[in-house]
Amino acid sequence: MTGFVYLVGSGPGDPDLMTVKARRLLDEADVVLHDKLPGPEILGTIDEERREDVGKRAGGEWTPQEYTNRRLVELAEAGKTVVRLKGGDPFVFGRGGEEAEHLAAHDIPFEYVPGVTSAIAGPGVAGIPVTHRDHASSVSFVTGHEDPTKDESAVDWEALAATGGTLVVLMGVGKLPDYTAALCEAGMDPGTPVALVERATWPDMQVATGTLDTIVDVRDEDGIEPPAITVIGDVAGTRERVVEFLRTRT
Ligand code: SAH
Repeated sequence: MTGFVYLVGSGPGDPDLMTVKARRLLDEADVVLHDKLPGPEILGTIDEERREDVGKRAGGEWTPQEYTNRRLVELAEAGKTVVRLKGGDPFVFGRGGEEAEHLAAHDIPFEYVPGVTSAIAGPGVAGIPVTHRDHASSVSFVTGHEDPTKDESAVDWEALAATGGTLVVLMGVGKLPDYTAALCEAGMDPGTPVALVERATWPDMQVATGTLDTIVDVRDEDGIEPPAITVIGDVAGTRERVVEFLRTRT
């Protein structure tokens, strides 16, 4: 009998922000394949003998996606109930789409279990609504870290600057200088508010704020590191007006 694979979103890291379904599946699964992004609090709730880390290996090398794909099929064919646990939502920059296609191509039944994405919750827990009636009527989710083998940038920063809406950049700590410069060059106001939200909803969450032309220095001074969300746009200025009253964890 073929097993089953659940592509599960863990949410941004706070165990209370996981769905009820994700919690139940984690408790029931034979095996949980995960990387580091769900965060130590959630990973700590799964017994060691049912966990397989397919994130960064010792030495800093990423586990090749082909290995993860192969392992999912192998476990399902052995009749296991497998949870493929991903940070946030599995289909937001999480390679969940590729894994779904691979499973389908191998006749493995699977289900998608949505999670709270850091792309929305990250700004939110820092006091930044990604849309706002007065400030932003659209929001774009963008990768800041493109496949380096691509010859041309698939992200059109000029077009993004022209939307006038909020830009939420994932995987964008390292390349921050490149795309903030590209946005200014495309005509965006250098004074546009920008916030960096590191490890949103984790106990050691950190928020840093600046503007398009100061945020790189702020990043360096505050030592902001991945995983972090960059949120660019007038909505980032909302934080100042709510932060004093904002509670994010109880
Ligand atoms: N599927 C995930 C995103 C995976 S891409 C989701 O929906 O949230 C990895 C990027 O997600 C990181 O580089 C970072 O930009 C962002 N990210 C994920 N969890 C985060 C968190 N708790 N705090 C800040 N950024 C996070």
